[in-house]
Amino acid sequence: MSEARVHEQEPQKKGRYIWTNILFFGISFLIAATVVPWYGFEYGFHWSTWLWAAGLWLFSSTSISMGYHRLWSHRAFEANGFLRGILAFGGCLALQNSALHWSSDHRIHHKHVDHDEKDPYSASLGFWHSHIGWILKRRNETRYDEQYARCPDLKRDPIVMFQHKYYWLLSVGANVLIPAILGLAYGLFWEMMLVAGVFRLVWSHHLTFFINSLAHIWGSRPYTEENSARDNFILAVLTGGEGYHNYHHKFQSDYRNGISWWHFDPSKWWIKALSWVGVTKNLKVVSNEKIEKARAETLLLKAKQKAALMPNAEEIMQKLHHEYDQLVTHLSEFYEAKKVWLESKKADLAHEIAEEKAHLIENYEQFKLKLEEQRLNWMKLAKQYA
Ligand SMILES: [Zn+2]
Ligand SMILES: [Zn+2]
Repeated sequence: MSEARVHEQEPQKKGRYIWTNILFFGISFLIAATVVPWYGFEYGFHWSTWLWAAGLWLFSSTSISMGYHRLWSHRAFEANGFLRGILAFGGCLALQNSALHWSSDHRIHHKHVDHDEKDPYSASLGFWHSHIGWILKRRNETRYDEQYARCPDLKRDPIVMFQHKYYWLLSVGANVLIPAILGLAYGLFWEMMLVAGVFRLVWSHHLTFFINSLAHIWGSRPYTEENSARDNFILAVLTGGEGYHNYHHKFQSDYRNGISWWHFDPSKWWIKALSWVGVTKNLKVVSNEKIEKARAETLLLKAKQKAALMPNAEEIMQKLHHEYDQLVTHLSEFYEAKKVWLESKKADLAHEIAEEKAHLIENYEQFKLKLEEQRLNWMKLAKQYA
């Protein structure tokens, strides 16, 4: 084994097994994989059990995506106390530790993404480690000795701190009492405990864990190749919109993960819809100009890598850079013209002469045409190599 390889595997060997987690995740998985199907074959299932299981799963995973991830870890929007309370409760049901703890880990993940030692669930150490291994075996004991120093903003949120203080009481309570009460109400006690309790929890755990594992392994990287994060539609569907992970790692403060209206991102739709009734506000979005520039930059790098292997590399590189520079110039001209035009529309000055307004619109339309033309030129060239 080479020296580099030994070094690579060292962090995995270090660390301490967390036996409570091993037992909990092991036993719950075994029950979901064996007792639940056995029960179904033996006694059959009532449809209401699965409906409740699906409802509880969607509620808890949305709380993780909207609350733990976009609200608390990234401050991508603001939410009123009522919604924060609901999301904090949903986070208890998801059983993924407190919002404060989760966000602290997640902020480290973004800061040191793919770093063997510093990223708590680094995909560079493989699927198993980033999926669940990091929960079963703790490598870095000092990580939690900082009193969550990187989350001073969250420490000022009384709802986050209340949830953190009573986390285990609330979580165990929610995960046992909700299925139990439902089971008693429907006269399906064991069925509800098994399906809406255990199976739902195991299912929701592993789907969320896929974001740390699969979303760093499987998919495309249109916005940056600086880290392993990937965009993956299937994962987006399974995780309530969290699968556009390459975009997210490039622009983590954006409240959206799927930026086009047709991208499957229910958390984004919830956050937007709730802003219309004042429950959420200050939704952060990255400008289209920045997004398009990031895509073009990534395409340029990919094209350059391929072109470098060709005999006339120098000439192709020059062409690529020329077209890329043109695109960037046209992009900023277009967005500037658009901004000026929109501002003039907003100001709606009565005394403004019609001529000037017409000039602004004309300007905007011209830059738009130029940009569209350049987009075509650029894509035609870059796609040959990327
Ligand atoms: Zn990630
Ligand atoms: Zn994130």
